[in-house]
Amino acid sequence: MPSREALGVLILGGTAEATALAIRLHTERRVERLVLSLAGRTLRPDLPEGVEARIGGFGGAAGLAAYLAAEGITHLVDATHPFAAGISRNAAEAALAAGVPRLALHRPGWDARPGDRWVHVACLKSACDALPPGARPFLALGRQHIAPFRHRPDLRPVLRMVDPPDALPFAADLVLGKPGDAASEIALFAGKGITHVVCRNAGGAASYAKIEAAGALRLPVVLIDRPPAPPPPMVASVEEAVAWLRRTP
Ligand code: NAP
Repeated sequence: MPSREALGVLILGGTAEATALAIRLHTERRVERLVLSLAGRTLRPDLPEGVEARIGGFGGAAGLAAYLAAEGITHLVDATHPFAAGISRNAAEAALAAGVPRLALHRPGWDARPGDRWVHVACLKSACDALPPGARPFLALGRQHIAPFRHRPDLRPVLRMVDPPDALPFAADLVLGKPGDAASEIALFAGKGITHVVCRNAGGAASYAKIEAAGALRLPVVLIDRPPAPPPPMVASVEEAVAWLRRTP
């Protein structure tokens, strides 16, 4: 890392990559100040031990720029989820305003393999419209993103959630639990008579099993494409982010 100035790194997190980078920088002890920032969506977030964390919004790009200046942040790493476009926009704007170098660390999206039946859509509403009448979709979307499907009472959706919800916005077959490996996803889709998988192109290995299972069963995947990527520089791995911090004054 550059030595002429005390390094103050703010990581905008909420992803496994952000946590991994925070742990890596904390373990290496080459950063004088390290802060991991979370939006506060998760009730009990899994915070890395020993890493300073702050939780909650900054109050837009101006608020983030003010934070960078006030806290002596010298480098900003936007390691937020590829679909969290608002905070990435704010990060780019705030870094420019504060004169702080910014890096986007975003995991690459998935690419279709030969034989995959993907229907690309731009948003949740288009995903909803893309399903044929009477379909039985597996909605791998997270509870905060399922509301548009209440306008399709002809569908017989299957949802998976870790914790039972208080209420659902529409009638659906609810599976409680976490995603499994491809074999258990295949068993689930086959057992439930799933006709389509609906998900976002989140990328990464952790949630790829459903895509693999859909491919194996030749099920169409209605894939919500990513919002535009943040401006460069952008890297795809923790390793590259560490290298950027090392070489960026
Ligand atoms: P968003 O729409 O881009 O952000 C909305 C607002 O939440 C931002 O303007 C900011 O508030 C605050 N915020 C977001 N990330 C923050 C962070 N890391 N630290 C402090 N404030 C943050 O984002 P979202 O889609 O609601 O996602 C929220 C968070 O969940 C993100 O950090 C993301 O990494 C994580 N996440 C999102 C998804 C997803 O599917 N979108 C999936 C997994 C994890 P102010 O304007 O007040 O600063």
